[in-house]
Amino acid sequence: MRPSRRSAELYEAARKLIPGGVNSPVRAFRAVGGTPLFVTRGQGSKIYDADGNEFIDYVLSWGALALGHADPDVVTAIERAAQAGTSFGAPTPGETELAAIIVEAIPSIEQVRFVNSGTEACMSALRLARAFTGRDKIVKCAGCYHGHADSLLVSAGSGALTLGVPDSPGVPASFAEHTIVIPYNDGEAAHAACRRYADEIACVIVEPLAGNMGFVRAKPQYLQELRDLTDRIGALLIFDEVMTGFRVAYGGAQTLLGISPDLTCLGKIIGGGLPVGAFGGKRDVMRRLAPDGDVYQAGTLSGNPLAMAVGIAQLRRLEQPGSYERLEGTARTLEAGLRKVFAAKRLPVSMDREGSMWGMFFQAGPVTDLASAKRSDLGAFRAFFNEMLARGIYLAPSAFEAAFVSTAHSKSDVERTIAAAAEAVEAMVAVAS
Ligand SMILES: *Cc1c(COP(=O)(O)O)cnc(C)c1O
Repeated sequence: MRPSRRSAELYEAARKLIPGGVNSPVRAFRAVGGTPLFVTRGQGSKIYDADGNEFIDYVLSWGALALGHADPDVVTAIERAAQAGTSFGAPTPGETELAAIIVEAIPSIEQVRFVNSGTEACMSALRLARAFTGRDKIVKCAGCYHGHADSLLVSAGSGALTLGVPDSPGVPASFAEHTIVIPYNDGEAAHAACRRYADEIACVIVEPLAGNMGFVRAKPQYLQELRDLTDRIGALLIFDEVMTGFRVAYGGAQTLLGISPDLTCLGKIIGGGLPVGAFGGKRDVMRRLAPDGDVYQAGTLSGNPLAMAVGIAQLRRLEQPGSYERLEGTARTLEAGLRKVFAAKRLPVSMDREGSMWGMFFQAGPVTDLASAKRSDLGAFRAFFNEMLARGIYLAPSAFEAAFVSTAHSKSDVERTIAAAAEAVEAMVAVAS
């Protein structure tokens, strides 16, 4: 790898003008050290930095790019849409077309509204759930990320049942106190919260397969318990599928796991790399939104024609037979190869995967929630990340993020990645002994 001289210069320039030099904190490489790559180009499974280095990309814009970078169908869709005008602030046919694809793919969604990010989707779904139930409190799991809206930026430490404290200054404690945080995969804590606050709880929001504390799988009976509990107390169950929607299966985690939420939040893949989010559910809930109903929700650029065109292009491709088999096949080979590499050096790494979404924790595991995720060896992750980066493999620069493959990832990408991992682990073991 060439020295990241140009990236370092660009980072310096950015830091003068943009807080921390980035527009989203994880990008700054604080958890792994060194200079963030400034990316100038992407093609298929690869990204290229400002110094001309090539990397096999397992971040894929945090999962949004299921077809890889600059897919020809996606590029054509953007070009066509751009030539017809970028935004009108008036309804366009593309919005209905993308809505139809989503409604057909995800049976629990009868109506859907588009927004500009996953954050907006979750924030708006909460408002709707609160209005629909006439209740204020929400229940979320520690370690699940639902964007950075005030009520959701609460994760409180472990412990069965805590009243939320804000994760960030600037979130009033009086907002956060409506957020009840429970550990992921802990049915008893969910029961306790629902017993204690039964008629105050508007909704339980959860990532059905968590991807924001690393990849952590919800036990199917846990999600079923949340379904039963919310039904019993008259609260809504919200699945945040911003990451898992159209990723772990075409119909998302809910179709895969056979559990039907009241509301679903989407983002990432449905915009194929353009800013988009959506939330949807049963008609009787969704019709509370303005202008049909009284719950205000709006957006100057919502349903943007470019974003809709890219979403349609990407989902039409994913809908074709064989897409998910290909994604799964690539990820399965990669997982098997990496497991072998870690096992050969007796490096304790706990891996898990669903379809093309996967994760690893540098610890023996099992990892079932935030507390167990936090037991990972962050030094080992940091070393592995940097050894991989030096060998042209780009992983998320944090031990607590999921990873992804796209349909553009080839057999040889996977082989190169496994070979790089073997060298990386060798180097780590050499340093340690
Ligand atoms: C990425 C993500 C969000 C936030 O989406 P943004 O587009 O970054 O606002 C919310 N929930 C989950 C599960 C996510 O992965």
